[in-house]
Amino acid sequence: METSNRDMLRHDILIIGGGPSGLSTALHLAKFAPHLTKRILILEREHYPRLKLCAGGLVVDAERILERLGLNVNEVPYVDSDEIRFDFAGKGLSVRVPKRHALRVIRRDEFDHWLAQKAVSRGIEIREGITVKKISPDEDGVTVETDQGRFPCRHRRRRGRLEGHHTPLRLPE
Ligand SMILES: Cc1cc2nc3c(=O)[nH]c(=O)nc-3n(C[C@H](O)[C@H](O)[C@H](O)COP(=O)(O)OP(=O)(O)OC[C@H]3O[C@@H](n4cnc5c(N)ncnc54)[C@H](O)[C@@H]3O)c2cc1C
Repeated sequence: METSNRDMLRHDILIIGGGPSGLSTALHLAKFAPHLTKRILILEREHYPRLKLCAGGLVVDAERILERLGLNVNEVPYVDSDEIRFDFAGKGLSVRVPKRHALRVIRRDEFDHWLAQKAVSRGIEIREGITVKKISPDEDGVTVETDQGRFPCRHRRRRGRLEGHHTPLRLPE
């Protein structure tokens, strides 16, 4: 995939890695600052659905966070467990949650693919198959170097304010 300079300059927020952290960050930005949605770009080196080494245990907090984003995690195939047991150095702890399952188990390839599709359906751009090689900060922002070109990400200054972001944040003069 060729990426034009025009495309590269369109984004103010580059998120490197489209795992749950990157996707959730983008979804939260889109929820709380919708005007930024079109200025977010997630760069993911793999293609969904991609393998991820993980036991796939989703704690109740994670489910709540997804619910608050308006996402229904029941759409992802799962198995529920009534009890979580943690064992470490010969000691253990069991956790049960009243009136509901303690842990939901999903497959990460399915879960991450589902979350990526939700992000795209909310207008967030994800480019797959791009590997970030280097991030170089400079006075005006950062330049992200990838195996498919450079993505400059610049502060937009106007009289000391971040331009177009409707934010009270001030940059140092
Ligand atoms: C054996 C094992 C079992 C686990 N079991 C559980 C569990 O049961 N429950 C639980 O909550 N957590 C579990 N974890 C932890 C869980 O997997 C991580 O906390 C979680 O994946 C972190 O999400 P993330 O989005 O930060 O990173 P990741 O899921 O690793 O996502 C990072 C993404 O960035 C991409 N990427 C990486 N480098 C680049 C690059 N240079 N350029 C572009 N893209 C890049 C990757 O392809 C990937 O898609 C387990 C971990 C392991 C190893």
